Amino acid sequence: MVYDVIIVGKGPAGISAALYTVRANLKTLVIGGPGSSLRKAGKVDNYYGFSETVTGEFLLKQGELQAIRLGAELVEDEVIAIEKKDLFEVTTPGASYTAKSVLLATGQPQKKLRIGNLEKYEGKGVSYCTTCDGFFYKDLKVGVLGYRDFAVHEAIELTAFTKNITIYTNGKELELSEKYREEFGKFRIDHRPILKFEGSEFLEKVCFEDGTEESLDGMFIAYETASSVDFAMKLGILTENNSIIVDGAQKTNVDGVFAAGDCTGGFKQIAVAVGQGALAAKSIIEYVRKLP
Ligand SMILES: Cc1cc2nc3c(=O)[nH]c(=O)nc-3n(C[C@H](O)[C@H](O)[C@H](O)COP(=O)(O)OP(=O)(O)OC[C@H]3O[C@@H](n4cnc5c(N)ncnc54)[C@H](O)[C@@H]3O)c2cc1C
Repeated sequence: MVYDVIIVGKGPAGISAALYTVRANLKTLVIGGPGSSLRKAGKVDNYYGFSETVTGEFLLKQGELQAIRLGAELVEDEVIAIEKKDLFEVTTPGASYTAKSVLLATGQPQKKLRIGNLEKYEGKGVSYCTTCDGFFYKDLKVGVLGYRDFAVHEAIELTAFTKNITIYTNGKELELSEKYREEFGKFRIDHRPILKFEGSEFLEKVCFEDGTEESLDGMFIAYETASSVDFAMKLGILTENNSIIVDGAQKTNVDGVFAAGDCTGGFKQIAVAVGQGALAAKSIIEYVRKLP
């Protein structure tokens, strides 16, 4: 089945967009995790239409119920890859979906890692994109830093270039779905917490908190959940300061990919996310209707 649009993220931006796309008769799938920042808001007083204080949790639940009532399909899952072929292929640990367009509404990307010299070696041995940089590590010794399905997915992508792959969990226990549990046995797993990266101009080794170290040619970061920035890098979407660049109609520079809400930076508020979701939906509706 081909969806007209897949919306990644079920916070205010994603759900607002879905309300418009379903009501315009677009076949709409929303895939989102539970991690909206609105869930952390115990009291919301500045969103239109509520005479009493409401919780973020309440707004999220009501939004989801509204989208379902109007005909959107909602799946609680994590998207680990988005690829542009003729259409867009959106992958979760357990399934793969196809769509004519994609809306990124994944919220603000979190700074997830505190490792010494991480920034110093970005682009010099530390990479966030197997599709972009895997080729440069042909037959070399590489690592993937992560402990969830996203990391194993990236390690599998790297097998096209090298067989010498270690997954570094940075002290975390692996948290894998059934599908990826079968796959991770193909890789060496290292659980040691990482202190810092070292090298001269380029990354040469990983130093662990226990005082040990290991030589390494490249480290691919795939920590926790894939963020808007991870998707952007693979799809060739322009970003600035960890935010996706969009025009006034919420279009990215990649045809068929739109973005809304906190992942686009700016004023991070529910009203803004909802407004941008509506604008993105308008652009998506126009885009899909013009397709042959
Ligand atoms: C403590 C706190 C209090 C706040 N209080 C207020 C307030 O009073 N008023 C106000 O206007 N704003 C408030 N905000 C800001 C508000 O919560 C955000 O601006 C708003 O939630 C942004 O909506 P969004 O849809 O862009 O992102 P989010 O609400 O963060 O939703 C992001 C969605 O994307 C999903 N996602 C991310 N990555 C993936 C992936 N790889 N696969 C699948 N799904 C993914 C998440 O699970 C989630 O469903 C508050 C924020 C915080 C943290």
